[in-house]
Amino acid sequence: MEDLFLQAKKAIVGGVNSPVRAFGAVGGTPIFISYARGAKIYDTQGKEYIDYVLSWGPAILGHAYPTVIEAVIETAKKGTTFGAPTVLETKLAEVIEEAIPSIELLRFVSSGTEAVMSAIRLARGYTGRDKIIKFEGCYHGHADSLLVKAGSGVATFGIPGSPGVPRKLAELTITVPYNDLSAVESIVTNEGEKIACIIVEPVAGNMGVVLPEEGFLEGLRRISRERGILLIFDEVITGFRFHYGGYQNLIGIKPDITCLGKIIGGGLPVGAFGGKREIMEMLAPIGPVYQAGTLSGNPLAMAAGIATLNTLREKREDYPLLIEKTAYLCHEMEGIFAAKGIPCQINQAGTMFTAFFTDKRVKNYEDATGCDLSLFRRYFHGMLARGINLAPSPFEAAFLSFAHNGDDIARTLTACEDTLRNM
Ligand code: PMP
Repeated sequence: MEDLFLQAKKAIVGGVNSPVRAFGAVGGTPIFISYARGAKIYDTQGKEYIDYVLSWGPAILGHAYPTVIEAVIETAKKGTTFGAPTVLETKLAEVIEEAIPSIELLRFVSSGTEAVMSAIRLARGYTGRDKIIKFEGCYHGHADSLLVKAGSGVATFGIPGSPGVPRKLAELTITVPYNDLSAVESIVTNEGEKIACIIVEPVAGNMGVVLPEEGFLEGLRRISRERGILLIFDEVITGFRFHYGGYQNLIGIKPDITCLGKIIGGGLPVGAFGGKREIMEMLAPIGPVYQAGTLSGNPLAMAAGIATLNTLREKREDYPLLIEKTAYLCHEMEGIFAAKGIPCQINQAGTMFTAFFTDKRVKNYEDATGCDLSLFRRYFHGMLARGINLAPSPFEAAFLSFAHNGDDIARTLTACEDTLRNM
């Protein structure tokens, strides 16, 4: 692996095309992947790992799911991109809009970043206001306005913002601690008429998993509605991860705009943003807010998305079992940590979780960054050596797929016990 990484570093910045992959937070050399099937991923030396990264969320059916692969192959035979409409785009849009009714109209893009970036522009164009509110530790992709106190890789590398983001633009982004409704209330009281939107991960996944406290999201909906501010739910991770639909369906809140990505692309590059018809119709070609993409609505990506969502619809009754499996894994892990006297809090939401090395409850970014990072590093490498692939950062979620079976869970628990014994 060292050879491959050295070679990669000669050709690609830092050897990777997305920073967290470089193992900067945990040290050592990233594993290079050869192939993956179901819940397992295999490195170039043929070593098998039970995968809890799942390409950072998309692979909820497990890797290389047969009907998804078949759909991609059959579609590719007809050509891979046309730059003109296909019925596949309409089909996937209809499937999404049926599952998430707050989305009356949508637009496909090629990544979550693009979806959120475009949603913010649309919110600004629709309201005629420039400022936005985001939450510390939430990550919404790497667009300029959103790289302020962001989570995921930005948190991993301890970057407060990013050089290259104009100060004047960053000043338009107001950041507030997650779950702090009164902070939002006081900002909105002072300058509500300048704020275009509030953007939030309804369950945060990018400072590790952090759940919304009771009333937090409801409060955001109320405050935003009162002040003519658009509420944007970034469901790039949470869309179709908890059930067949958005997290919003579960809590009965309708945001004005929803951003999607990851699962809806079935492992191919897709993002989407959509919402109220009146807002979406501000977008070109109907309205004046411009947004476009050569590969937007790409047929391979649409085919993978349709096959994935169709399968998830068939499996909709199986989500509770997968959530139960996740809860069991978390509960058993907690027991193992407790028996060893290692302080650890596991935040679980549906089919995702994060083990934080702390004895304090983690409810925002400050709590998350207060965890013991050196313990995480040792834990991560111990698990990796024992064939368990976790995200190489303490500020990420672990994901389960429908392909994870009882044996995978048992092997994970054994690896956890063995790792802690040697820590
Ligand atoms: N929003 C959220 C909530 C995300 O987790 C991510 C990526 N992890 C993004 C947006 C950006 O998506 P992408 O990496 O596809 O650009």
